[in-house]
Amino acid sequence: MKDVAELNRIGFTLAAGWLLIVLGCGETVYQPAKQSRPPTPIPTVAAAPTRTPPEMKPKVKKDSDLVSLAEVDPTIQVDLRLVGSNHPFGRAFYRDNIAYLRFGTAKKLKRAQEDLRKQGLGLKIWDAYRPFAVQVAMFEAAGGNGNWVSDPYRTSGKKTHVRAVAVDCTLVDTEGNELPMPTAYLDFAGGAKKMKHAYNDLPADVLANRQKLKETMIACGMEPYQGEWWHYQDEAWANYPILTMDDFPEIHRALLVEELLKQAHPNH
Ligand SMILES: [Zn+2]
Repeated sequence: MKDVAELNRIGFTLAAGWLLIVLGCGETVYQPAKQSRPPTPIPTVAAAPTRTPPEMKPKVKKDSDLVSLAEVDPTIQVDLRLVGSNHPFGRAFYRDNIAYLRFGTAKKLKRAQEDLRKQGLGLKIWDAYRPFAVQVAMFEAAGGNGNWVSDPYRTSGKKTHVRAVAVDCTLVDTEGNELPMPTAYLDFAGGAKKMKHAYNDLPADVLANRQKLKETMIACGMEPYQGEWWHYQDEAWANYPILTMDDFPEIHRALLVEELLKQAHPNH
């Protein structure tokens, strides 16, 4: 029995030794946790540029767009005579006092206005874009007199009002008073002679005012019409086609009196 006990004691000692060795090796197993490193900085990501949704982007205007002159230069006076009946044709053609023009032409008038303002003057617009239906109605109201209103059916002629590249205009002072000019607007008295640029039997100040308007407009890319001192058209008029009621329909609905709209679109 003693031998067995002795063997057991030796066995226990050996086992304990192995256990110590295992535990010693276990130091690598139970290694204390490594010290935590400082947090790795998160790389900076450049902020994405703010994008405007496409529908929010301001639309870039083309020269051929039809615009209200007041949007391009609100300092230009607009007094469309065809809104009321204060003209020889005695009836209203337009329902609203808004001068529509091609954007390219409106920019030229803005330049003319800036030149004039430096001299204490400004432009006043009596007519601008004139839809074909209005041109026809005016021609009929003038009894088909081509000296008063250009024949809309004539194949020759520049037809610049119908292209939205012409204005009928005069000069005003800083208080908006019209400067003396050869005739009143659409004054065809005396065979329409006094309206012409060639008519010079006029007071010196009237001649000077007519000349001032002419020089300013030509310098800004507008050309005169020899038959009417008040008419100026974009020298690039040929770049712009004649407009129809199907072009810019919302503008036609806003501009024309009901009767003319119905004539132009009888089924609408
Ligand atoms: Zn005109």
